[in-house]
Amino acid sequence: MIVEMGTGATPEEIDGVVQRAKSLGLDIQLNLGTDKTVVALLGSNTGQLSTDIFAVLPGVEKVARIMKPYKLASREVKAEDSVVSIDGIEVGGKRIVVMAGPCAVESEEQLMAAASVVKKNGACILRGGAFKPRTSPFSFQGLEKAGLELLAKTREQFNIPVVTEVVSSHDVGLVSKYADILQVGARNMQNFALLTEIGKSKHTVVLKRGLSATVTEWLTAADYLLAEGNNQVILCERGIRTFEDSTRFSLDIGSIPVVKKFSHLPLIVDPSHAAGHYSLVPAMAKAIVAAGADGLLIEVHPNPKKALVDGLQSLTPSDFARLMKELRPIAKSVGRYI
Ligand code: PEP
Ligand code: MN
Repeated sequence: MIVEMGTGATPEEIDGVVQRAKSLGLDIQLNLGTDKTVVALLGSNTGQLSTDIFAVLPGVEKVARIMKPYKLASREVKAEDSVVSIDGIEVGGKRIVVMAGPCAVESEEQLMAAASVVKKNGACILRGGAFKPRTSPFSFQGLEKAGLELLAKTREQFNIPVVTEVVSSHDVGLVSKYADILQVGARNMQNFALLTEIGKSKHTVVLKRGLSATVTEWLTAADYLLAEGNNQVILCERGIRTFEDSTRFSLDIGSIPVVKKFSHLPLIVDPSHAAGHYSLVPAMAKAIVAAGADGLLIEVHPNPKKALVDGLQSLTPSDFARLMKELRPIAKSVGRYI
């Protein structure tokens, strides 16, 4: 951590910073410039210390971190890529893992039809929300336990693992009984009680990026899962809120190489929620594969016009089949396969 003193900071003020650092067991390096003094604070735990501890001291102008606040998700702790395995399906290996299905579980007929289509075209995990985190309390909230039962039935019938969202820490036990992968939605990325509970459960989890979260905040949230000993963590980019309103969210393609550079965790990307419109999903999905993601999470509905949730951004079975064909040569060009 670097503490920059204001111009004209007195020797007493500089000493105040030095004494505070020493009281915390930190080593210091003083850089006395002609009109500015910089104090470098050295120690293994500076990432855990709030910058405010020094920012409040008299004479201090600015405090900046050099170490990242996240630890367990970082490549500094684990240099090699992590691979998360679900029933032998590896996320983070050579294969681009496609998770696809409807936004919400609506009925047995709908879910079975979706499972059949996504599996036939090469997706290896079925998605479908039983608990839906809706912006309005008056919108369809999901079939809840009945939805979980339909997921379990479809999983048996099609021999395909399922990913579904858990919205509350109280439901982690229940959802874990039915789902192969728990999804933490964008709106819950910093629900620390939920993250801790899932961490304790050791259940495989997809952690979506919050809609206004920086990559650093997202990776620090992943530390909550890892800190409980859950190493089965997959990250999912899904677009962030910006001033741009021609898409539902702005797909942050740049976060793919950034996450890959700083974290060992596997990363999938959801183009559906970023796009908000089915016509934009294929181009985004191709860019995601080309940029180095380990997988995709795509909304596919047997009949999007009748969908209860997110029909506008859901691909039809034929659109999905076409996209999967188009993705294969792109995957190959970056040394991967689907
Ligand atoms: C979803 O996957 O259906 C969903 C609600 O996504 P997000 O949390 O990214 O909005
Ligand atoms: Mn959705």
